[in-house]
Amino acid sequence: MGNYSKGEMFGAIGAGIAGLSASLYIAKLGMKTHIFEKRCDTNADGVGIQLTPNALYSLAPLDILDELIDESFFPEKLVVSDAHLPGELNSIQLKGKMEHKFGFPYLTSSRNLLHKILLKRANEESLIKISFNSKIISTKNKDAVIYKTDLGTNLYFKYVLVSNGITSNLTCNDSNIKLSLADAKVLRTCFSGKDLPQDILKNINLWMGKGFHVVSYPINNKSDLNVVLVKKNSRTFGYEKKLENEVLNPRLLSVRNQNLTHLLKDVTTWSAWPLYRTRIITRAKEIYSRNSLYIGDAGHPLYPHLAQGAALALEDSYTLYKLLQRCGSDKLHISKAFKNFAELRIRRYQRMQVESLLNGKIFQQQGLLRVIRNSLVKNFGSRLMEKDWIYENKNISRI
Ligand SMILES: Cc1cc2nc3c(=O)[nH]c(=O)nc-3n(C[C@H](O)[C@H](O)[C@H](O)COP(=O)(O)OP(=O)(O)OC[C@H]3O[C@@H](n4cnc5c(N)ncnc54)[C@H](O)[C@@H]3O)c2cc1C
Repeated sequence: MGNYSKGEMFGAIGAGIAGLSASLYIAKLGMKTHIFEKRCDTNADGVGIQLTPNALYSLAPLDILDELIDESFFPEKLVVSDAHLPGELNSIQLKGKMEHKFGFPYLTSSRNLLHKILLKRANEESLIKISFNSKIISTKNKDAVIYKTDLGTNLYFKYVLVSNGITSNLTCNDSNIKLSLADAKVLRTCFSGKDLPQDILKNINLWMGKGFHVVSYPINNKSDLNVVLVKKNSRTFGYEKKLENEVLNPRLLSVRNQNLTHLLKDVTTWSAWPLYRTRIITRAKEIYSRNSLYIGDAGHPLYPHLAQGAALALEDSYTLYKLLQRCGSDKLHISKAFKNFAELRIRRYQRMQVESLLNGKIFQQQGLLRVIRNSLVKNFGSRLMEKDWIYENKNISRI
């Protein structure tokens, strides 16, 4: 023990959005990170991603915004409709307004692009080393943190960032973030939507249906469209086949909204993504120990219905940077920074976790609750849809 990898202060598990952005911030402080990634290459799959003002605020100090913005899309509005009714229920302005209010725009992009830019930066940074093909199977927390790889080697680091995504099952001291599959299916697709109506090509659209919802948004200026459909699972025999038929034939979903009918007609293939049931974090202690910190999805698994997965991961990295910066050259205080981080972030995680869970339920209401929801969205839509607390960054800017 105590035989730390020479000069490498941090080990990080996972070269996703959280692991890469945190390592880049740590490098800005002059410290080294060694990242272990289980994937064998730099090509990650993934489709669309929403990058809200809080995400861009947290990315700005890494000087990659210009590159990202060049290839991303600025949606005009968020439009909310009922899948079974014509027209829209309500909408809020995004383009221009978000920048004006929060200092940063609301972008839609592809996860691949963001990942590619972060990875390129990390590869150029001499203080960051990335080992691919390196699946970490356990971490331990005594005098030093032990990384055990699936090749049977043990590695020692003084501090560990656990950033291996939503399926993280690495155990640190008290961590008991448990996951199981949710009773819903997520289907995603990305295709050229150039013949679709402008309302679809310019905006983020949400269609709320009975027992399902659909979200679409362009991811660049080439009319490439990202579409996600979330539908409650039924355990009945032959359900998979039924879902496939329904999705490829909008009439079976009783869709009456013209734009949604257009959109679904153009989809030829879907890929299925798992949706995990997540438990609300109750204690800050669940995401840190003396030597390790859980960041990104590994620390706060989230339903995708609030589109905040990447944003929270980027906020984590920027928050950690600001807290570590306060430690200055006194490395002994890193454990304290981990504790401060968890205590500072937990309320926001909890609020996001609850809000994303509720969104999933509200979007799929049926019967009387659906009628009440529609009336509220129609009459008080902008007040309900404008969620300033998400986009402002009071906690980070106060550090
Ligand atoms: C391949 C992929 C595609 C995605 N596509 C989308 C998308 O299209 N839209 C969207 O909104 N969100 C997508 N996400 C999720 C989104 O990136 C995250 O919600 C968010 O960015 C938080 O990032 P994260 O770094 O915490 O987790 P992730 O981005 O999930 O990154 C975790 C990383 O850890 C690695 N890893 C996992 N276990 C181990 C281990 N034991 N040892 C070593 N490495 C490990 C994974 O391979 C991955 O690279 C995707 C995630 C992945 C992994």
